[in-house]
Amino acid sequence: MKLTQKTISIAIAMILASSAWSAPPVQGTQISEAEAATLSFMREEEKMARDVYITLYEVWQTQIFANISSAEQQHMDQVKSLLDRYNLPDPALEEVGNFTNSDIQSLYDSLVERGRTSQIEALYVGALIEEVDIDDLQNAIAETNNRALERMYTKLMNGSYNHLRAFVGQIEYLGYVYEAQYLDEVDDILNSGTMSRGIAIETANSQFVETNAQFKASIKTQTGLYSNGAIFSQSDEITITATFQPDSAHIGQNADLLTVAMFTPMGATQPLIFMRDETGGWQNWDGYFNTLTAVQVQQTLGNEQKLNVYQGTLPAGRYQISVGYRLQDGTIVFNEQAIDFYVE
Ligand code: MN
Ligand code: MN
Repeated sequence: MKLTQKTISIAIAMILASSAWSAPPVQGTQISEAEAATLSFMREEEKMARDVYITLYEVWQTQIFANISSAEQQHMDQVKSLLDRYNLPDPALEEVGNFTNSDIQSLYDSLVERGRTSQIEALYVGALIEEVDIDDLQNAIAETNNRALERMYTKLMNGSYNHLRAFVGQIEYLGYVYEAQYLDEVDDILNSGTMSRGIAIETANSQFVETNAQFKASIKTQTGLYSNGAIFSQSDEITITATFQPDSAHIGQNADLLTVAMFTPMGATQPLIFMRDETGGWQNWDGYFNTLTAVQVQQTLGNEQKLNVYQGTLPAGRYQISVGYRLQDGTIVFNEQAIDFYVE
């Protein structure tokens, strides 16, 4: 990609580079038939998870099933509140193990049968449910522009990420190596929320160049590890760290480490852009490369670099954070997929 404008800023480059960038969606008051069908399905899918865990807890008395079944009850409640908002009927039946949707009924029956065979199979059933749930929620999010639905599904999906990590943690604790059962990206989910390849820009001529740099970010609160799209409250203590493997051609070179944050306050459409300085303070950034301050200057790049990005509470809005490094020739390498989350 060749950019002709000499003064292109990294902020614009980040926006161009980020496929995830889009204007904040508008709150919908109506939902389509397809959205209503998905919502109804998700209500029973969350119940299926809850009911399998209730049943397998009775069989094995393994604490994880009791803990996660109560989280699934909350997920069911969150789906129900949106069914109510749109005056849609509730498909969920009262009895544990009974379902309106016949596909969900047969899935429940087969999963419980498998989970009864051994405790390890029961844990694999839990992990499989979470993998399938993540896939269905990803599809549900992709299918809608309704803000309320997106937010609710994103909360459920982050819950499922944590549940999947918890089941896999138990499986590994028992000495087994977990193999993904349904999703391709299980390793990414287990390792942390946000993986990104790097993107490099030669600031001297505003040209993007290939790089093999790799970035990984973790967003944590008291309640666990979260992924991009997570929604936090203003009272949450959020800890964000990033690690990256520099481009192999850059290892051993001196570089400035950089952190740039785009903050779109709740209700605003344009982001404010901040850069972090050596004191740890956040300064407004005008977007020009020559004014971009470094968090740490002249670090020798090792195989793996760690950056503490932020720790504390945050005001309401959307956050998109880029981290990276700047070589002495001005080349800047940063995460193509920003660390991206909301505070409400
Ligand atoms: Mn759930
Ligand atoms: Mn779950």
